[in-house]
Amino acid sequence: ASFDAIKLLNDLREILQQTGPSHQLILNLPAGELIVHADSQRIEQVIINLVTNAVKYSPKADKVIIEAVVTDNKLRVSVQDFGIGIQPDQQERVFSRFYRVENLASHMSGLGIGLYICQEIVNRHQGRLWVESIYGEGSTFYFEIPINTNDLYDA
Ligand code: ATP
Ligand code: MG
Repeated sequence: ASFDAIKLLNDLREILQQTGPSHQLILNLPAGELIVHADSQRIEQVIINLVTNAVKYSPKADKVIIEAVVTDNKLRVSVQDFGIGIQPDQQERVFSRFYRVENLASHMSGLGIGLYICQEIVNRHQGRLWVESIYGEGSTFYFEIPINTNDLYDA
């Protein structure tokens, strides 16, 4: 099915803000509409998971920045936080099922399943999900999905 990704993000604004009342959520979105062929509920789930993490792992920060851009016939969404960050040797592993980084955040509740699910969803859309992070400064999670997949994800 297809949907307008810009509208989805705008419609999610309040729900996302509720996941992190302590943080200001800044949404940088292109004007107009952006029709993608994808499963809107799953994409919504990915965004909510990433924003939930961004808030959770940046307890001392006051904002999270969400951006959507179009490059090369792909929709790219980024979720940036100014939190604890992830050490380089851990950055690949956070996408593994039940993996949680052992650090000052270990006491925070969680199963270590959120990013695994995000990756599964993005992969099924022929997309990719990755992170750039500086330990102690913050993380940016990105996902990219093709805009025209000829309804491959209609199942
Ligand atoms: P849940 O299953 O409830 O999502 P979780 O948040 O621990 O639990 P994931 O979302 O899969 O699980 O994240 C895996 C691990 O990656 C986290 O435990 C945390 O160590 C690390 N992590 C995820 N997002 C961030 C982030 N924005 N900043 C720093 N570390 C992060
Ligand atoms: Mg999580």
